[in-house]
Amino acid sequence: MTAHIIDGKAVAAKIRGEQKERILRMQAAHGVTPGLAVILVGEDPASQVYVRNKITACREVGIRSELIKLPATASQAEVLKRIDELNADKGIHGILVQLPLPKQVDVHAVLEHIDFHKDVDGFHLYNVGGLITGHTVFPPCTPYGVQKLLEHEKINVEGLNVVVVGASNIVGKPMALMLMQQDATVCICHKKTRDLAQFTTLADILVVAAGVPGLIQPQMVKPGAVVIDVGINRLPDGRIVGDVDFEGVSKKASAITPVPGGVGPMTIAMLLFNTVESAERSVAA
Ligand code: NAD
Repeated sequence: MTAHIIDGKAVAAKIRGEQKERILRMQAAHGVTPGLAVILVGEDPASQVYVRNKITACREVGIRSELIKLPATASQAEVLKRIDELNADKGIHGILVQLPLPKQVDVHAVLEHIDFHKDVDGFHLYNVGGLITGHTVFPPCTPYGVQKLLEHEKINVEGLNVVVVGASNIVGKPMALMLMQQDATVCICHKKTRDLAQFTTLADILVVAAGVPGLIQPQMVKPGAVVIDVGINRLPDGRIVGDVDFEGVSKKASAITPVPGGVGPMTIAMLLFNTVESAERSVAA
């Protein structure tokens, strides 16, 4: 079997195009342009790249973005004060704080300070809790992107065995909750899981978000499984790879996401989606 390659780049481009149209309609009907504020504390080089990519993506679809740069020495009170201002700003529909934060700033205090109606990253406790009951205001962007990819591929997860490898707060755990909400039978594995293959071989859908290149080998995959590789790892030779042995596993799976070009582009697309959604809700309210 040779797996169908799930083209995340193409799906993300389609979603971005749809956001562009939603924005044009909103501007024509209500004179409202969605606004996203991005708070960047410090000079972390990777964070600067991520923020730049998000701002470029906003510009391309017509979202007005506002970058708030604070020094690495900024106090927690300063960060919270900026969030207060953005919470009150009617022109801002989404607030994103780029992580990680310097150690003097408590990440939980910051995330909980964002008005959850503007929490387009989906990291506020209210939105996290909402994943349990299916009432989240904004699902977190990476698992939401995976959900959209599965929908695009017309894969109905109901009743399927889904194994999520990785149990982080931003990917693995919300992913598992979102799939459970859709009546999949979900198992979460993590680095303390004994005999990972015992679980992964049961998966009709295998979602991998561990940050370990080559973690998933062909013998760990059920023939015909759908394999979603969330991992992004830079090898010493500079290549970017996922957590799945793509060459080997694509001979066994029925469908697989490549890295790069799979889940990665979906994350930013869903951030744009959540921001436009927030602006539309504010207009409706
Ligand atoms: P994390 O380090 O916060 O969590 C990793 C999880 O994987 C943990 O639960 C850990 O227990 C588990 N794990 C680690 N080694 C394991 C092993 N050998 N076997 C089983 N489980 C193991 O990472 P994260 O933030 O969730 O990110 C995971 C990966 O996804 C990284 O490669 C990251 O770069 C990537 N990522 C991609 C996107 C995207 O847009 N595509 C977004 C976020 C993260």
